[in-house]
Order: sequence, then structure tokens, then C-alpha cells
Amino acid sequence: SSFVEIDLCEALQQNIKRCKYVKPTPIQRHAIPIAIAGRDLMACAQTGSGKTAAFCFPIICGIMRDRLKMVVPGGGMVKVAYPTALILSPTRELSCQIHDEANKFAHRTGVRIVVAYGGASIGQQFHNLEKGVELLVATPGRLVDMIERGRVSLKMIKYLALDEADRMLDMGFEHQIRKIVEQMDMPPPGARQTMLFSATFPDEIQRLASDFLSDYIFLTV
Ligand code: AMP
Repeated sequence: SSFVEIDLCEALQQNIKRCKYVKPTPIQRHAIPIAIAGRDLMACAQTGSGKTAAFCFPIICGIMRDRLKMVVPGGGMVKVAYPTALILSPTRELSCQIHDEANKFAHRTGVRIVVAYGGASIGQQFHNLEKGVELLVATPGRLVDMIERGRVSLKMIKYLALDEADRMLDMGFEHQIRKIVEQMDMPPPGARQTMLFSATFPDEIQRLASDFLSDYIFLTV
């Protein structure tokens, strides 16, 4: 099998070649077509399985597809950022890695990707947001901070990916994650597409899935 068999936008197909990905990994082969079809997804995926591309490809294609210049609310003195896609990940390192990979996949698409994580200057990250953001990659604590300061709104989020969900819960982020997802109100119900990736599936993860996903497909490869 090859990526050409998967219905991905042309720009992304080009970038996959630039990245020298020849063959989709098992998680990519199964998850990408489901996500491109618009379905919610819970996937079992270990580090090194190629999961980053599995959730980034459908998000980037979705953003490209939706690109009717949406008029977003805002204005006034403080610029509020309205991303349409969000990837939550547990750590600064993982967020930066996802940001780097997503930028490669989005090469020459013009898709604006910003990363936000704790333990670094929030001012620079605000500045990056002000330049425009479509896809935000963030750790939960820093994102909650930005929302509380009124600088990010999640009202327009249409694509949500939770990466290493089990690790985020182990690190005590459940409260923040729930607070973040509560901020999203893309109407009508089910209009938001959610993908949850985790290496393990304890009860708490199953609960998150039933709270955040609708009519989802569970994938183990
Ligand atoms: P991940 O599991 O997303 O952290 O990916 C692990 C590594 O595999 C990263 O360095 C990716 O760039 C690489 N990778 C992901 N998908 C493919 C693929 N289809 N072909 C070759 N390398 C890949």
C-alpha cells in the first residue's frame, strides 16, 4: 500500500514525498482514511508508530478544505486568537516535536501552526498567536492560562486531537483537559471531529472517550 491510495490533498501528497515517507505505517493506513471521512477516532498507538502523521494529515487536509475565509469574532484592543484545530500533548518536548513535524507536513500550504507550552515566556507565544493561527499545538496547563487571560478562544475549534492521553492523565491534567474541551462549542453537536490517541486504555481513558467523542471508531493495530 502507499499514500497515493489515501485521499489526501495534493499539497500534502507532495510534502509526504519531501519527507521521504514511502509507505504508511499500520496506524496511518487505518486511521487516516477514517479521519478523512470525518469520523471520531480512538486509537491505540505507541511512540514510534507514526501516530503524529496519523492525526496531523487529516487535520491539515481539513483546514485546507475549510479554507473559505471565515470571518471570526474578535477585534477590540486585545487580539484574540481563534484556532480551528487543536492538538493537546503532555509535554513541551512532545509539543515541539509535533509542531516541527506538522510544519513539514504543511510546507507551502500556508497553514499557520503555533506551539504553546509552559516553562517558557508566554509573551513570545502570544506574539506568535497574534500573527495568526489555524492549528495550535499546546500543553494543557499553558493553554488554560492563555484562555483565562482572554488571548485564545476555542469557540471555532473543528478538529481536536489528544496525543498520549494516558500520559496526560498520569501527569494530572484531567481537570485542565476537561476545562479546555468545555470551551469548545462548534455547532451543531458532532460538528467537531475528535481523535484520541493513547498507549493504554484504563477506565479513565474510556470515560474521556465517551465524554469527548461521538460515535467513534476504536482502532488497535
Ligand atoms: P511518531 O510515532 O509519530 O513519533 O513517528 C516516529 C518517527 O517515524 C518519526 O521520526 C516520523 O517522522 C517517522 N515516520 C512516521 N511515519 C512514517 C512513514 N510512513 N514512513 C517513514 N517514516 C515515518
